[in-house]
Amino acid sequence: MVATKGYAVQSATTPAAPFAYEHREPGEKDVLIDIRFCGICHSDIHQARNEWGNSMYPMVPGHEIVGTVARVGSKVKKFKVGDIAAVGCMVDSCRECASCKAGEEQYCDRGETLWTYNGRDKQGNLTFGGYGDHIVVDEAFVVSVPKNLDPAAAAPLLCAGITTYSPLKHWGAGPGKKIGVVGLGGLGHMALKFSHAFGAKTVQFTTSANKVEDAKKLGADEVILTKDPDWHVKHEGTFDFILDCVSAPHDVTPYMALLKRDSTMCTVGIPESPIQLPAFAVAAGRKSFSGSAIGGINETQEMLDFCGEHNIVSDIEMTSFDKVNEAWERVIKGDVKYRFVLDLKTL
Ligand SMILES: [Zn+2]
Ligand SMILES: [Zn+2]
Repeated sequence: MVATKGYAVQSATTPAAPFAYEHREPGEKDVLIDIRFCGICHSDIHQARNEWGNSMYPMVPGHEIVGTVARVGSKVKKFKVGDIAAVGCMVDSCRECASCKAGEEQYCDRGETLWTYNGRDKQGNLTFGGYGDHIVVDEAFVVSVPKNLDPAAAAPLLCAGITTYSPLKHWGAGPGKKIGVVGLGGLGHMALKFSHAFGAKTVQFTTSANKVEDAKKLGADEVILTKDPDWHVKHEGTFDFILDCVSAPHDVTPYMALLKRDSTMCTVGIPESPIQLPAFAVAAGRKSFSGSAIGGINETQEMLDFCGEHNIVSDIEMTSFDKVNEAWERVIKGDVKYRFVLDLKTL
């Protein structure tokens, strides 16, 4: 077994605190990674506090993981000791169903997507994530980080990056398209960077005037303030796709009116309460409201390679393990530009 030190929560109401645990001894297809950096995702907090109702404890959160390969099993082909490797939100799936075969392991038809933490593997063991100094993962679920990227700033690409890259690709963001991004946080700032890099006309929606300059720096061609009651009227029917990155409950109806006929608005913010959508908002113009969850393993590698070519990383604030509970409070308040990253040296 691989002795591991990290931070865990022991229940929905206790803070994250030091915790010693073990990962399995690496098998022949496994990679042992010495974790160097782990991003803090809002879903770490949702799950630590059992806000989705499915939490298992003890829980070691973290699914934006970058580290150095320390050991490989005898049948590992993709990695060698010393490589910079990354792990995102999932570490296994059934690998046999139509979705898994299509490279969409996050949508495994058998519901066997194994989450990096707060999951239970086939042996019945809890999975433990990136708030710890090691992880053991089958190489099929490990990806490579381009050498030119700062490994700390690359960590959030593993969740915030792929979560926004995948729907922008799926719905055809590119030259000649007008793309809207709702919300400027961990997800929204990555959506701006990708949409801009894909060559789309990129528009940021925000309620706060003090975010206008930042949005433009991050890749927005235009920023629309959504404060006045009639803010949407002059923009109606002009958007090819809108990516909604807001996790707090909010009214999506005005955004539906902004879409062109047959166009889609997609949520990746996943608010806790049901989204209210009047039927006329989709019927008028045959529009769609959709959702999207991360991306498959091949697409995650494609995204990292794209980031390597275009020099895209997340804008980050480094933090340390002794401040992790404080960092969580700041994430809840939206008080970070735009992603916290834990340095494992501070463990
Ligand atoms: Zn995440
Ligand atoms: Zn499957």
